[in-house]
Amino acid sequence: MAQNWGGNIVFSTDRLHRPRTVEELQNLVASRPRLRALGTGHSFNRVADTTGDLVSMADLDGSIVIEAADRTVEVPAGARYGELAVELHKHGWALQNLGSLPHISVAGACATGTHGSGDTNRCLAAAVVGTEFVRGDGELVRLVHTDEDFPGAVISLGALGITTRVTLNIEPAYEAWQRVWVDAPMAAVTDQLDTIMSSGYSVSIFTSWARPDVIDQIWVKGRVGADVPDGRAWGAQPAEVAHHPILGERPDAATQQFGVPGPWHERLPHFRLEFTPSRGHEQQSEYLLPRHFGAAALQAVRSVELQPAIQVFEVRTVAADDMWLSPCHGRDTIAFHFTWTDDDALVQSVLPALEAALAPFDARPHWAKVFGIPAARVRNQYPDLEAFRALAARYDPGRRFGNQFLEDFVYG
Ligand SMILES: Cc1cc2nc3c(=O)[nH]c(=O)nc-3n(C[C@H](O)[C@H](O)[C@H](O)COP(=O)(O)OP(=O)(O)OC[C@H]3O[C@@H](n4cnc5c(N)ncnc54)[C@H](O)[C@@H]3O)c2cc1C
Repeated sequence: MAQNWGGNIVFSTDRLHRPRTVEELQNLVASRPRLRALGTGHSFNRVADTTGDLVSMADLDGSIVIEAADRTVEVPAGARYGELAVELHKHGWALQNLGSLPHISVAGACATGTHGSGDTNRCLAAAVVGTEFVRGDGELVRLVHTDEDFPGAVISLGALGITTRVTLNIEPAYEAWQRVWVDAPMAAVTDQLDTIMSSGYSVSIFTSWARPDVIDQIWVKGRVGADVPDGRAWGAQPAEVAHHPILGERPDAATQQFGVPGPWHERLPHFRLEFTPSRGHEQQSEYLLPRHFGAAALQAVRSVELQPAIQVFEVRTVAADDMWLSPCHGRDTIAFHFTWTDDDALVQSVLPALEAALAPFDARPHWAKVFGIPAARVRNQYPDLEAFRALAARYDPGRRFGNQFLEDFVYG
């Protein structure tokens, strides 16, 4: 049976199709009772699962088409961010932001609200200005950002259809740098959390919680030309050696540090395209909270015993958007990410206390990661959920693209 990248999910089917043309995909959709798109399989829960047939867009014909005049790029849905970034950079273009790893597919990342970091950076799906997908009856649909349905059509959890191409906003290529600061006192980080998170274009705080009064690392990424912060103002020290986000892991998988300028796509992700990202043997959870709760919520996390399940904790920020199923819908967001050891029992043993500690802060779970928040509470966190259900009912009335995850967290 096929499984996800993390190896913690074995899909409920071993039927995986890889159509080469849109017509082949349309015939497949029209002839199967239940299907589900599979991207690069980097999700940690059953969002991509189906008891029917999985469909990958990895072999679909089509190329990356840059429209310089519109400042957009049209991308085959199965393309990975890393490949897209190299192609864009070659032609003098860039994306505004990237997630921590370049290995994920564009359509899969956008479908779940995947994000990077940065006060002014919205999640990756916010760059999408056009989408093309095969809906439940096999018809091809094209939507652009001015269409009424669009705010529900990009972060769609695969519920509307199988995306074939997406169009993204681009901008002229830029150079960026990243610097790592280590061993910041927890008290200083809590007091100056907003200052730290806004000290660069994209900022991540990493800690293992092995030392509850110390934050292990602060990674600041900036565009060349922007001010470089001095982490000593937060009680941290400049890193003297290269770091991996997980202390003790080999730093050669991580992108270049020490402020060396380089192409945007070789600095914004934490991991290099040619290496296994993160650690490989892991599970992940992430919760997205209103930004202003950051310091209080950080203290709440500190009060929870996360050892020995935790490998690393990461804090990022994401700007608000108006997409119906976006975890950042309507609010500037601070995101608390947890990389766990790959041990179901251990992970499940810490989630209840962690989620109870974060509950007062209206924490929305990342759609693609492990969480235990009751489905009814998740559904209540999305004010436009009813509009999304109506949209899904129009594009896929028979719930051909449905699965148990959607039944629980969307349709209810
Ligand atoms: C090491 C690692 C690092 C990560 N870092 C980040 C990070 O920095 N930020 C963050 O927010 N998340 C992060 N994630 C989570 C990851 O971005 C999401 O799981 C994302 O959805 C993965 O994309 P995928 O292509 O693997 O999607 P899959 O897991 O294959 O699918 C996810 C969902 O997308 C749908 N989908 C996929 N392709 C299509 C399509 N063509 N049409 C319609 N629906 C489709 C599927 O049906 C499913 O519902 C990370 C995951 C890993 C393993």
